[in-house]
Amino acid sequence: MIKLRVCILGSTGSVGVNTLDVMARHPDRYEVFALTAHSRLDEFASQCLNWRPRYAVMPDRQRAAQLRQRLDGSGVSVLDGEAALSEVAAHPQADAVMAAIVGAAGLEPCLAAARAGKRLLLANKEALVVGGALFMRAVQEGGAALLPIDSEHSAIFQCLPEDRLRWGVTIDHILLTASGGPFLSRDAASLRDVTPEQAVAHPNWVMGRKISVDSATMMNKALEVIEARWLFDLKPEQIRVVIHPQSIIHSMVVCRDHSVLAQLGTPDMRVPIAYGLAWPERVESGAAQIDFTRVAALSFQPADPERFPGLQLAWAALAAPAGSTAVLNAANEVAVAAFLAGAIRFDQIHAVNEHTIEHSRPEHGEADSLEGLLGLDGRARAVAQTYSRTLVR
Ligand code: NAD
Ligand code: MG
Repeated sequence: MIKLRVCILGSTGSVGVNTLDVMARHPDRYEVFALTAHSRLDEFASQCLNWRPRYAVMPDRQRAAQLRQRLDGSGVSVLDGEAALSEVAAHPQADAVMAAIVGAAGLEPCLAAARAGKRLLLANKEALVVGGALFMRAVQEGGAALLPIDSEHSAIFQCLPEDRLRWGVTIDHILLTASGGPFLSRDAASLRDVTPEQAVAHPNWVMGRKISVDSATMMNKALEVIEARWLFDLKPEQIRVVIHPQSIIHSMVVCRDHSVLAQLGTPDMRVPIAYGLAWPERVESGAAQIDFTRVAALSFQPADPERFPGLQLAWAALAAPAGSTAVLNAANEVAVAAFLAGAIRFDQIHAVNEHTIEHSRPEHGEADSLEGLLGLDGRARAVAQTYSRTLVR
């Protein structure tokens, strides 16, 4: 069997580590071509020594120099600089790219992989939220196979009929499920006192810090609504959200005839990762099976707009001029970082997002190029940062 050569962007993160876990179960099918990481030098060095990729990328030059010393004699080439991320993602010898960087920082290498026609496993939802139509055009023009890794989008992808062209007529709407995060039943008035440690303690999933905070505010679901709009070419009003605290149904497709298709599983990212790696086949993922005799209930409830005011920003940004979703993402990245650094309160994340959307309007045509989008992203970050500093904790 010819092995699939995989480049993992963000291999030290939660999704990156899970990807290596699945790949380790199938040494006959997959091999690592390149690994990249931003920090955590010790972990990254041991991943590299273990997997012996052809390339290891650290954008920061100093850290890359340290890594080079550690990997001396291992046969791994260490590259530095941000451009090296795109270089390995588009490398002719890479077959598949797992996009598992967090934030808009992953957009450029995603575009490079898309344009180079790779099998692109997309966990990095912010890249699609920022890139929007430009991202999808790159996928189409490059002939890439875009496979969603976000569990909800993988669920939808698994439920949709194979004939993409018929999605518009066969589907009524999709329902993204949301766990509701750690504060689903906490007194809404006390959300101002939430600490970073409480916010990152998700009840069902173990994930990186940024997405964990996003799950607590439900901005994660807002980003996922935007992600679904692009991935599946749906109208914003065809995307709905329902809270399902058990995280067993990962999302659902409601067909024209109101038949509902759902994908179920234990909350374990190795399931969507294994599907992305093996599609259209299936391989062992390492995830536990659901024991239905122990599932006491599958419950559902609407998302309370007072508790989760950020959720509706998804539809608002999709209705606003192109580029508005990039502004929303930039604001939220700044707000979450400020919250994790102790500079703003949990409930002020939403205030930063709203203020930034109001004060950074995209200009006409700005969303049509990477340069335009990066400029807009930078402007929105500056607005969000300045506003964050005015807030009193
Ligand atoms: P994480 O914080 O655990 O890992 C992020 C990875 O990206 C690390 O390897 C880090 O070194 C790298 N990185 C961070 N900043 C970077 C930068 N500026 N330049 C280059 N590399 C950088 O994050 P995660 O939880 O693994 O999430 C990764 C992406 O997958 C996010 O977009 C997240 O929304 C999405 N996602 C994650 C999960 C999950 O279970 N963790 C589920 C669904 C979607
Ligand atoms: Mg998700």
